[in-house]
Amino acid sequence: TAAPTGVDYFDIAAELTAEELRVWTSVREFVDARVLPAAGGWWERAEMPLDVLQEYGRLGLVGDGLEGPGIPRLSHTAAGLITMELSRGDGSFATLLGVQAGLAMRSIEFLGSEEQKQRWLPPMARLELLGAFALTEPEHGSDAVALETRAVRDGDDYVLDGAKRWIGLGDVADVVVVWARGEDGQIQGFLVEKGTPGYQAEVITGKASLRSIHNAHITLTGVRVPAANKLPGARSFKDTGRVLSATRAGIAWGALGHATAAYETALAYAVQRKQFGQPLASFQLVQDKLVRMLAEVTAMQLYCLRVSRLAEQGRLTDTQASLAKVNGTRKAREVVALARDLLGGNGILLEHRVARHMADVEALHTYEGTESIQTLIVGRHLTGISAFT
Ligand code: FAD
Repeated sequence: TAAPTGVDYFDIAAELTAEELRVWTSVREFVDARVLPAAGGWWERAEMPLDVLQEYGRLGLVGDGLEGPGIPRLSHTAAGLITMELSRGDGSFATLLGVQAGLAMRSIEFLGSEEQKQRWLPPMARLELLGAFALTEPEHGSDAVALETRAVRDGDDYVLDGAKRWIGLGDVADVVVVWARGEDGQIQGFLVEKGTPGYQAEVITGKASLRSIHNAHITLTGVRVPAANKLPGARSFKDTGRVLSATRAGIAWGALGHATAAYETALAYAVQRKQFGQPLASFQLVQDKLVRMLAEVTAMQLYCLRVSRLAEQGRLTDTQASLAKVNGTRKAREVVALARDLLGGNGILLEHRVARHMADVEALHTYEGTESIQTLIVGRHLTGISAFT
């Protein structure tokens, strides 16, 4: 299988299997045809492209490397390449899939009963049913471990009360994984089905990053959930953490996709745009910026491939995944800023793509554990000293 075209200075493609190359090519073609032409408009109108998402579902590539019923078998590397390509097209589109497969399906696959997996995973893998993951609260983001939403047993039900914030797809999801504190003081997980009375979602407006995915502020008032919808594997925050750390390498791949889009756009622009009678690309300072961008993109590719291969061998540690997330989002912010600079005034126009990526990487920098929190996780591992409090 031929490698898809795109930046690949150290021939990463040579390390991929024929199946990984096939997946990469089909997502790349989908992104070029269906995502790139529309993404600026979705962003401007803060419009969630659920119709294009349905089309994507028909490719049979939703599963993020999970192994449950009805889920297409993808290596971690293939899943990473998908996230990279989707992010190259549109960060919101990639995040929609990150919420669906990375967080909601993974919670069910890791912590659900056999019956819950059979019921939810096959239609979620086809994107016929959408999922959300509700952990963050208005008063608890980085310290999600201190969450205040309560779950109280009442007969055959649990009753949930509390509030959640920033929940991707929280307004449209068919099933929301809600994390709450049980009567034993431990964190438990519940599958809250669409239309359950007491569940209210208000879309957060005015976002300047990832504008086209809806994030919701959710209030839970006496929400009754049948005991059969409690995730049996979720017994403490450690179990929530297992889901989160498994998605972290995916954020590094997403950051790589944003940086790739910015670099490729800047290179094409620098070759074509003339000032002082010559292409921008002929100026030494411009070449320096392009080479700095390429160096970071290439380093991110090596990081991403290595962490995915470690995950495939069952050897990826939480702190390695945290380091990949920190490095990826930090470098992506630098690369998109350089690209924006190289495009001059056009660098702030949606039409030229880079400004959208620049805004969108800000969310990656923060979500699923901020850069600072991931740094503290790695710092604790290096020194044996926790600097969180
Ligand atoms: P805070 O925790 O208030 O942090 C503010 C600043 O303080 C950060 O710079 C942080 O690094 C720093 N800080 C905090 N504690 C420390 C410390 N001990 N030492 C040093 N610095 C510290 N959540 C979900 O549950 N589901 C979702 O689907 C979801 N989607 C999201 C989508 C978007 C676009 C965004 C922006 C967020 C989303 N989140 C979601 C929430 C996200 O995970 C949180 O925003 C994130 O964990 C940070 O929490 P916070 O915003 O409350 O910031």
